[in-house]
Amino acid sequence: MNKNVRKAIIAGNWKMNMTPSEAKKLIAELIPAVEGKNGCEIVLCVPFVDIPAAVEAVQGTSLKIGAQNVHFEKSGAFTGEISAAMLKECGVEYVVIGHSERRQYFGETDETVNLRMKAALAAGLKPIVCVGELLSQRDRGITNETVSAQTKIAFLDVSAEDAVKVTVAYEPVWAIGTGRTATAEQAEEVCAVIRSVLAEKYGNDVAEAVTVQYGGSMKPSNAAELLAKYDVDGGLIGGASLKAADFAAIVDAAQ
Ligand code: PEP
Repeated sequence: MNKNVRKAIIAGNWKMNMTPSEAKKLIAELIPAVEGKNGCEIVLCVPFVDIPAAVEAVQGTSLKIGAQNVHFEKSGAFTGEISAAMLKECGVEYVVIGHSERRQYFGETDETVNLRMKAALAAGLKPIVCVGELLSQRDRGITNETVSAQTKIAFLDVSAEDAVKVTVAYEPVWAIGTGRTATAEQAEEVCAVIRSVLAEKYGNDVAEAVTVQYGGSMKPSNAAELLAKYDVDGGLIGGASLKAADFAAIVDAAQ
C-alpha cells in the first residue's frame, strides 16, 4: 500500500456472533493483544445490541466501533431498522454497507447500498462499502466489470470530500467464510481496478487517499502476503476476528 497517504484499516466483522457480555470479554482480551500497534486503524464491527458495551469497553484505547448495517431513511415506519443518527449517537464511527450476506439474504442491491452510503456520510459515519463478484462471475471472466459497476453505483452522488471518508472492501463472495482466499495477485488486481474507478471519477489524489481493503478468509497465515500489496490497504475480517489471538496477529501483519 501507499503508506505515504493511506493508513491500513483492519476491521473485524463479527457478523451475528457475540452477546454483549461475550463482546466485553473478547474486547478485554483484544485490548492488551493490540496495545501500541498504531500502524493501522483497528475497527470492530459488532451486532447492534453489542454497541453500547463495545463503545464502553474500548474507551481510552485507539480501537473504534462499527456497525454492520444502517438504514437509509432518517426515521419513520421502518420496523426493525436502525438509522445513521442512532448509530452516531451511540458512539459508532464506522458502518459496513452492502456486505455480500446482506446482498444474498436480505435483498440488498447496488441502489440501496448507494442510499445507505449517503445516509451514513450525511450523519458523519465512515462507510465500509463491500463489493465483490460471485464465483460464477469470476468463472465467466466478468470480475472487473462486476466490481467496477458496484463501485460506480455505490459512489453515485458522493462528493470527493466525502469519498475520502469511505473504505471500500473488496470481498470476492466465493472467499467469504469458505476458507478459500483470493491469491494476493487476484486481490491486488481487483483492488487496483476499484482504485482506477475512483481515479476516473474523482482524480488520482482522491483515489490514492481512499482505503481499499481485501476481505475473504483473511487469517494470520495469509494476511502479511495480502497486505504487502500496493493497493490492499487493510482487511475486513470475519471468522478470524472472533478470536483475539488471530485478530491480533492480523493487526501485527498490518504494522
Ligand atoms: C466478512 O465477513 O466480511 C468476511 C470476510 O468473512 P471471513 O473472513 O470469515 O471470510
